[in-house]
Amino acid sequence: MTARLAASDLWWKNAIVYCVDVDSFLDSNGDGVGDFGGLARRIDHLAALGVTCLWLQPFYPSPDRDNGYDVTDYYGVDSQYGSLGEVVEVIRAAREHGIRVIADLVVNHTSVDHPWFQAAGDRESPFHGFYVWADERPADADTGMIFPGVQESTWSYDKRAERWYMHRFMPHQPDLNINNPRVRDEIHKVMGFWLELGLSGFRVDAVPFLIEQRDPDGPQVKDPHDYLRDIRAFLSRRRGDAVLLAEANEPAELLANYFGDEQGDQMHLLFDFIGNQALYLALVRGDARPIAKAMGTLPPPPPTGQYARFVRNHDELSLDKLTASEREDVFAAFAPDPDMRLYERGIRRRFPSMVDGDRARMELAYSLMFSMPGTPVLFYGEEIGMGDDQSLDARHAVRTAMQWSAEPGAGFSHAPRPAIPRPPIERGPFGYRRLNVEQQRDDPGSFLNWMERLIRTRREWPEVGWGEWRIHRAGNDAVLAHQFDWQGGQVLAIHNVAGTRARVGVRVPDEGGGGPWKHLLGPRRIRRAPEPLDGLLEAELGPYEYHWFGRRGAV
Ligand code: MG
Repeated sequence: MTARLAASDLWWKNAIVYCVDVDSFLDSNGDGVGDFGGLARRIDHLAALGVTCLWLQPFYPSPDRDNGYDVTDYYGVDSQYGSLGEVVEVIRAAREHGIRVIADLVVNHTSVDHPWFQAAGDRESPFHGFYVWADERPADADTGMIFPGVQESTWSYDKRAERWYMHRFMPHQPDLNINNPRVRDEIHKVMGFWLELGLSGFRVDAVPFLIEQRDPDGPQVKDPHDYLRDIRAFLSRRRGDAVLLAEANEPAELLANYFGDEQGDQMHLLFDFIGNQALYLALVRGDARPIAKAMGTLPPPPPTGQYARFVRNHDELSLDKLTASEREDVFAAFAPDPDMRLYERGIRRRFPSMVDGDRARMELAYSLMFSMPGTPVLFYGEEIGMGDDQSLDARHAVRTAMQWSAEPGAGFSHAPRPAIPRPPIERGPFGYRRLNVEQQRDDPGSFLNWMERLIRTRREWPEVGWGEWRIHRAGNDAVLAHQFDWQGGQVLAIHNVAGTRARVGVRVPDEGGGGPWKHLLGPRRIRRAPEPLDGLLEAELGPYEYHWFGRRGAV
């Protein structure tokens, strides 16, 4: 008989991940730019919130034409954020608080300013082969742009080399040629370096593009996923508990390939873009069925794998997996002004501003996300319901400075406002004077305190991360009722995604031999779970009302 897995094993299956853009979090030296010195002072905030894994967005030296996703040195820290020593201090301080740290690994491409690309202009240089070249402009050069409407092609001419180089992203981001063994060695070295400094893994940027084969002259690789097996094996040899969290916004039928074989030999975690988009569609239509459908569509992860769930991230809210009419519904409700939309597929707003700060829908959305089978990922500022600044360019709208307090600079920076590249939101209901961490800490009914309770509940009930899930018939299309079972424990969640009242009747099978059901979470207290819950649970839910129940048998 094999030993039962302890809840602490495979930590990523139940982590609470928090994404930080260092330059927008806290500025400790008054230059207007957030830095590692500032982040070190806020590890307490993350620990109190219940975060267990900190994801650092790119902090490497970069000309910053794509928010740091254009790297010129994989072994360094951009000097405006601090030094390597300060990074190590943050990693150590986080570990002291039980928080692991992962960081973006951006190796689909470098910046054109990277010394490798600078050297690559010489066709005799060994670095020439680090990139993907063609003598003639490829016929598909006008297809496959990541930034439609802004990006004009995926191949550009390099005068020095007198050849065309490939760039899936912008022309200043030439794709690395991962079929070149020397490039693979370099990526291994980069990963090894940061693992030695204490990172617990990487969020791997643009994974489908990393492994795509677009070298017209190069050898054709039998299975591009071999490269993902390669970096997984390397990572696990160097550090057994380190993880790879992949950005792979792919159709459901392709996702299993990114986890790999039955044991999971590629990515540990995949972001769930399909469920994310279904959440928005469900909210707009007041119909929970898109969420249930998305849950059923995703291939089950292997035992060591997990989906990473989110409400919003640092990019636009991509709606690319919805049909045209579904996307139009979400656009009409949540981005009525065309300027709120981006790249013909997404919305450049944070969620609270889409719903005008409506607390009921904010709680519902995050409760739903945290109750999905998977690992929740928060983007900084979500814990206080931060908004966005539509006057900023493109994706920057959602990347404004963290709002710590009502003092000038929002407690983010003492620098004068014009010196802050993406200053805190000043006006309106989302302005920092009205919406900030300090004020919400003092208010027992604040969103921050609610979020802390949500995180605590999710951590206390690892059944959600580990368990087998099923969807119950609720007798009402507006309501999602789903249940988790793991090692004798059960969690039942019901969510009304509509703005109207909903009667539900959920038949909960009497199995597991558990104790009494407890009410875990909801917008109103239910002293006693409706008894007997192990039969038909009948309830009338208010608009956007949700409840979690849990029970555990004798261990
Ligand atoms: Mg600074």
